[in-house]
Amino acid sequence: MNRQALIKALIPQSVRDGDAYKVADATGLIKLDAMENPFVWPEALQHALGEQLARAALNRYPDPQATEVRQPLRDWMQIPESLEMLFGNGSDEIIALLISNCIATGRAVCAPDPSFVMFKVLANQYRVPFYGLPLDDAHDIDLDRWLAVIEDTRPGLIFVPQPNNPTGNLFETERLKRVVERTEALVVIDEAYTAFTDANYLNWAADAPNVVIMRTLSKVGLAGSRFGLLIGHPDWIDEFDKIRLPYNINALTQVAVRFALEHADVLESQSAAIRDERSRLSEALRVRQLVVWPSEANFVVMQTPPSQARVWFEKLKAHGVLVKCLDGTHPSLADTLRVTVGAPHETDALLNALDQFTAD
Ligand SMILES: *Cc1c(COP(=O)(O)O)cnc(C)c1O
Repeated sequence: MNRQALIKALIPQSVRDGDAYKVADATGLIKLDAMENPFVWPEALQHALGEQLARAALNRYPDPQATEVRQPLRDWMQIPESLEMLFGNGSDEIIALLISNCIATGRAVCAPDPSFVMFKVLANQYRVPFYGLPLDDAHDIDLDRWLAVIEDTRPGLIFVPQPNNPTGNLFETERLKRVVERTEALVVIDEAYTAFTDANYLNWAADAPNVVIMRTLSKVGLAGSRFGLLIGHPDWIDEFDKIRLPYNINALTQVAVRFALEHADVLESQSAAIRDERSRLSEALRVRQLVVWPSEANFVVMQTPPSQARVWFEKLKAHGVLVKCLDGTHPSLADTLRVTVGAPHETDALLNALDQFTAD
């Protein structure tokens, strides 16, 4: 039997024609492309964590409920007793789990357009219809058009990152409220950037029948541990828990997350430093006559002169700084770069690079 013939028969054409998720090679570069926290832990804490990891029972399956991290998370995030939590191997896994549930109901998935790509990528992968919800000129909810799409397509699931990635802004609360009231979809408010904004919609999960909140530890310094959570009424969480893979949170992650939460002051002071650095970076770019979009996240979007985004991306890279070129990904993102807020010396490297090649 011929392997290529088998692959052709057994792997769908859409998969064969597609690509694996691509991550830019950042070897040797200052990494300002993926919204990671730039700070490492103080050495004493690294050693203390190492000792705890060394004692983890790797011969056993992990606790399927990750019991040890539940109360610390509840305390740190001030999650009321009336809400329950479901944990995922990053929010990516939770997004996949929620969307996979739409296969059987035949309902569509909606998310803002532009927004976090995984909503659409995973909907496509599961063959669940996906519809983008258009934004207005201020990157806010275009309410009439959202309601029209929602009425036409009757989605079962609407993802709303608050603030949005890659635009960085918060959607206006009143408009979001109207969307929640007018749809019979489950609205997943994705608070991936909760550490960098004062906005917080946890109480909506308690008050509205059709809202759950998704969060992640990826943006506060634990991207490598892959830990996300869904917070919602126990009736919702109980159902989704039935389709969660039983051992999705591995034993090392459970230890690392619990340890991190015991030292939540470190996470908080790092996030506060990133918020300060976001102001400094935005100001420094504006002083250089660049348009910078307001951001409630740990990244900023800057506009380059017309048709220069790709050129600037390459020049920054040549100067050792990796950012994300958004140009070409959506019409409203033409001539833009997304820069993750890094440590002060990384901001300085970015600014120096800009000054050098714009002076040429
Ligand atoms: C970064 C990001 C996530 C995080 O995904 P993880 O799988 O938890 O790392 C989720 N949603 C949005 C909108 C993001 O930008």
